[in-house]
Amino acid sequence: MINVTRSSMPDFDEYIEEIRELWNSHWLTNMGVKHKELQIELEKYLEIPHIALYTNGHLALEGIWEALDFPKGSEVITTPFTFCSTIHAFVRKGLIPVFCDVDPESYCIDANKIEKLITNKTVAICPVHVYGNMCDVEKIDAIAKKHNLKVVYDAAHAFAVKYKGVSSACFGDFTMFSFHATKVFNTIEGGAVCFKNDDLIVKMNDLKNFGIHGPEDTLYIGGNAKMNEFQAAMGICNLRHIEREIEKRRLVVERYKKNLGGVNGIHFCKQQENVTPNYAYLPVIFDGFKKTRDDIFFELKQNDIIARKYFYPLVNELECYSSFDYANVEATPVAKYLADRVLTLPLYADLSEEDIDKICNIILK
Ligand SMILES: *Cc1c(COP(=O)(O)O)cnc(C)c1O
Repeated sequence: MINVTRSSMPDFDEYIEEIRELWNSHWLTNMGVKHKELQIELEKYLEIPHIALYTNGHLALEGIWEALDFPKGSEVITTPFTFCSTIHAFVRKGLIPVFCDVDPESYCIDANKIEKLITNKTVAICPVHVYGNMCDVEKIDAIAKKHNLKVVYDAAHAFAVKYKGVSSACFGDFTMFSFHATKVFNTIEGGAVCFKNDDLIVKMNDLKNFGIHGPEDTLYIGGNAKMNEFQAAMGICNLRHIEREIEKRRLVVERYKKNLGGVNGIHFCKQQENVTPNYAYLPVIFDGFKKTRDDIFFELKQNDIIARKYFYPLVNELECYSSFDYANVEATPVAKYLADRVLTLPLYADLSEEDIDKICNIILK
């Protein structure tokens, strides 16, 4: 079977060496040495002053919304073309999603359509760098400044991506990364909150540990979302190999494009100008091809190849949002067009040329 993704892992011996000292210290979680080391390494790698490490990306997002602490019923402008976690995170904090359509080239939130969705209840914008494509960070920043809104980027797909040489971690008020097993960089499960404001260091770190600041000192009503030492050790190992992993992904994507590029009805995402990509996903739009997206999905499956309709359905058509005022697919026609035609093909660093060719031949046949 060829799955849509396959987790990057260090050599077994490298990981064992990394966790060996935990058997001496017996310190398994609660911001131990591995946690601290990974935090410092990531702050360097992502070129961001502050990172709080979380047990997963979703709780990192929830941590951000907890820190912002907006009144219940406030509105957040976001995209429906994302994983449900983006929206669930702030809805679980009592906020209301207002779905903005996406840009037909980047598939990210269409910055030109944000302003007309702003009401007197709007408090924030939550864009997603989907597939590792960068949102229009300059325009979004300008809108946020003009209307005094916070910006929370979901950068779960955008680890190691840069815009005009600046790390994806550095835009908006907060940026969240997911280090889930399926992402370009993984800590098994894991996540991070990136921010520049020194005043937030204590809050972001305490919030993931019940709000506890010191032995007799609890500042917030926090949950529990700490990254443990085994996760951090995995991250330390995987970070050593990240450049090679991304380079291998690039070669995979190039071979797909060599095989399928130029075929009528098969459309790839355009490489964005000024963006250093991470080759996180390979979304393909089937429009005007001999077969539909669903036909291709089914035919691949018959051959034990698992592609993903990522993202279908849209978040604004999910059952759990059906009673929400703003959950209306007709309001986001570009997102709907993409959701009905997109298929993300198998992509991981060790996907062989032979397997890529096999996948492409099935599609072309
Ligand atoms: C993976 C992902 C998340 C959630 O991250 P976890 O680490 O799995 O909790 C959130 N948003 C997007 C866009 C994702 O792809």
